[in-house]
Amino acid sequence: MSILVINTGSSSLKFCLFNDQASAVILDGEIDWHGRGQPAELTVRITGQPERKTTTDASDSASAVTLAIQTASDSLPEGQSIQAVGHRVVHGGTRFLESTRIDPAFEAELDHLTELAPLHNPPALKAIKAAENELPKIPQVAVFDTSFFANLPRSAAVYPVPWVWHENYGIRRFGFHGISHSYCTGRAAEILERPADSLRLVICHLGNGCSAAAVKNGVAIDTTMGFTPLDGLMMGTRSGEVDPGILLYLMKEKGLSADQIDEALNHRSGLLGISGTSSDYRRVESAAGAGDDRARLALEIYAARVRSAIGSLAATLGGLDALIFAAGVGENSATLRSAATKGLEFLGVQIDPLKNNNHPVDAAISTAESRSKVLVIHTREELMIAREVAKLIARA
Ligand code: ADP
Repeated sequence: MSILVINTGSSSLKFCLFNDQASAVILDGEIDWHGRGQPAELTVRITGQPERKTTTDASDSASAVTLAIQTASDSLPEGQSIQAVGHRVVHGGTRFLESTRIDPAFEAELDHLTELAPLHNPPALKAIKAAENELPKIPQVAVFDTSFFANLPRSAAVYPVPWVWHENYGIRRFGFHGISHSYCTGRAAEILERPADSLRLVICHLGNGCSAAAVKNGVAIDTTMGFTPLDGLMMGTRSGEVDPGILLYLMKEKGLSADQIDEALNHRSGLLGISGTSSDYRRVESAAGAGDDRARLALEIYAARVRSAIGSLAATLGGLDALIFAAGVGENSATLRSAATKGLEFLGVQIDPLKNNNHPVDAAISTAESRSKVLVIHTREELMIAREVAKLIARA
């Protein structure tokens, strides 16, 4: 008996098999189909065994799901089977405010939300259908990145635009990366040995996509991501916040189309756009280290935007008990953490360089005197999804 978690991206699918209490990982892996014409790669890590890599012919999320289910089932001892499947779904809109059991009505409604999340929801929907084909009698659950932000205060959720946009077009701040922010909230409370409902947290999830959130007493009250995951911090290929007047200027005066601007802001901006080298933080760091001026500028903008978000979110919280760094860059880059917190002493943030450089995992990197704690947390979105599935199944 076990729970399989499926996390579908646009060019990869991650999967993770948990025991039925969602307390231990049995196996995890991913399937990457990097580009057309290239063979996909399957990576499998079984707890206690060396990682295995093989090529496969899975070329989309549906065939990747079939392969993930086969791989997970094969790893289970004779007589055991997958008991439930959890899917990460990026956008729940205002319809899905919490994790939901999947049925045909759900799928139709999720299909309607495609307009809001054209890049993210369609591969998830495809994966859900494929998993239902493979495991028709097994309960499936959708866990949303937007749920954690479902109750943002109106002052954070509503944009100062004509009211009809809000009313007629549903324009509002949704917020994303909620599964990670929610996990980090719980984990921070454990590490600090204080109840989550006594804490003011700023959480910086810095991966390929980046967002920061303000969490007060366990509840999200603001975030940098908005109506789409394009808003807020600088990211790998996404711009984050820019003056909307730039888009109007480019359309009216330079003749750029909506599609051209969409492609540029989503795929050719951020670290890649500024450095001209890569969207990958490590590569930009190496280029900057080798003296590349644009790479250096990219890192400066990246850190400046994280710092400014921390200041703004701490102001919204009315103070800061802990600052959290998570995801690829947040967990691994000591230089980013140091640069992004430079000048934040006025907020009571003081990093201990030794702790910061010592590859911290689920640990504090602040000095003993620091009024606000600074934590590095290894975020575990798959675990959070498995817990949600276990909770829903138990309730049913
Ligand atoms: P995703 O958002 O796709 O889940 P990750 O959370 O894995 O992405 O983050 C990927 C980012 O983390 C990349 O920019 C990568 O360069 C960065 N990263 C990973 N390891 C390190 C490291 N040791 N130092 C700096 N950046 C790192």
